[in-house]
Amino acid sequence: MSQPLVEYKDVHKSFDDVEVLKGINLTVAPGEKLSLIGPSGSGKTTIIRMLMTLEKPTSGIINVDGTPLWHKEVNGELVPADEKHLRQVRGNIGMVFQHFNLFPHMTILKNCISAPINVLGVPKEEAEQRAKEMLTKVGLGDKLDSYPAQLSGGQQQRVAIARAVVMRPKVMLFDEVTSALDPETVGEVLEVIKDIAKEGEMAMILVTHEMDFARDVADRIVFLEGGKIAEQGPPQQILENPESDRLQSFLERFR
Ligand code: ADP
Repeated sequence: MSQPLVEYKDVHKSFDDVEVLKGINLTVAPGEKLSLIGPSGSGKTTIIRMLMTLEKPTSGIINVDGTPLWHKEVNGELVPADEKHLRQVRGNIGMVFQHFNLFPHMTILKNCISAPINVLGVPKEEAEQRAKEMLTKVGLGDKLDSYPAQLSGGQQQRVAIARAVVMRPKVMLFDEVTSALDPETVGEVLEVIKDIAKEGEMAMILVTHEMDFARDVADRIVFLEGGKIAEQGPPQQILENPESDRLQSFLERFR
């Protein structure tokens, strides 16, 4: 098997005295699409926030493309990473949040070119071309000069997706990206993610409560319970032939 793109090795995370992740071992292959499902509070968001360097693991190792994320190798030993190292490795990772976090004072186009220009050093013309292409792909080619407040929630979330994709990360993280949307706009956002997933190159980790979407988009579904991976496998196996009682009763809620 080729080297995993993302690898969690015995990762633990506590907040104060409460251990919320209890030894996560998980790999994601290049281009693989992984859905994280599980009850609220089981640790799904914490798993992806650690990859985005928004939370630091209490112990364990997370590798991205073969390089430790939270550690740096010095003379063959792993020492805590500095901000520069974190920034470098994080360059491989993009994230879309539940709340879109667009810059309110910038047009849609500006929202999508600012990081490529300022972080990656992409020339302005090229950044604009990339951004226009992506915004057209998510169905917003006619909104380049609009401001976020002029768009619906679903449109804003599509901008947030375009803004993350133009950075060309190796892995994209989606954290319940439809849970703050009006029900009628959920579908358009899920369709956009499915289209991007079909192109294949980027790995994706998706935290979602949309089981039909998880089935359509994921190569593998991971069921998390109480801070541990309780069961994982291809969508059909996980959703149609769950082994554990806990996964069975979790899935009942969606029937
Ligand atoms: P999920 O995404 O599965 O709902 P989370 O990863 O958000 O679960 O949360 C796992 C547990 O960690 C929950 O009990 C939550 O209250 C707790 N938690 C998450 N973030 C923090 C934080 N910053 N401080 C304290 N507790 C937290």
